[in-house]
Amino acid sequence: MDKTIVAIDGPSGTGKSTTARILAEKLGFLYIDSGAMYRAITFELLRNNVKPTDLKKITEITANANMTFDGEEFILNGKNITKEIRSLEVTNKVSSVSAIKEIRKILVDKQRAFAADSSVIMDGRDIGTVVFPNANFKFFLVCDLKTRAQRRRQDFIDHGLKIPVEKIMEELNKRDKIDSSRKESPLKKAKDAIEVNTTNMIIEEQVNFLYRKIKGLD
Ligand code: C5P
Repeated sequence: MDKTIVAIDGPSGTGKSTTARILAEKLGFLYIDSGAMYRAITFELLRNNVKPTDLKKITEITANANMTFDGEEFILNGKNITKEIRSLEVTNKVSSVSAIKEIRKILVDKQRAFAADSSVIMDGRDIGTVVFPNANFKFFLVCDLKTRAQRRRQDFIDHGLKIPVEKIMEELNKRDKIDSSRKESPLKKAKDAIEVNTTNMIIEEQVNFLYRKIKGLD
């Protein structure tokens, strides 16, 4: 059977991961959260106190990082770091770490390797532009900032954390700015990507919209 590759990109908090995860389950594809990979490297660099200028150490840590996805769990070098990579500390640092060219090169290779022998849905910032420019389907999710922040706030509440919506808006805005203005693989819509505005959609609608396109129903 032919492999299918679905790329889902867009700014932070547009519902990419949730949509991709449910869609992958419906289609029986492998789901790869590329953001988790950048978060894992950020976590490792913080844990080892690596300076952003120490490219030798950064390259060594990234190249040796053995990453596996086990359902909703993320394993780095045998350790489950699913919770750790969502911490505020990692979230605040991840965009500057992912602007480092040496890290991107290694992680892009690892991302392509995940698709070596199965159909894949991958979400991120540069999946349709850089990682899989020939993906069978490319989607670019957008959503207004306030709605994204409100959804994220609800996620935090579900995890027992109360954070003001303004603070979340600030963080999302800052991350988007760094992600879209960096030199290496900036966040941008691929020319042939389908733009989906999720502001007034619930998750089921988002999933359904993408599902119907992939199945050729729309
Ligand atoms: O998707 P998520 O918000 O978890 O991604 C965290 C960060 O990882 C993004 O803000 C971005 O800086 C970086 N990232 C990236 N390229 C990707 C996926 C994520 O630069 N393909």
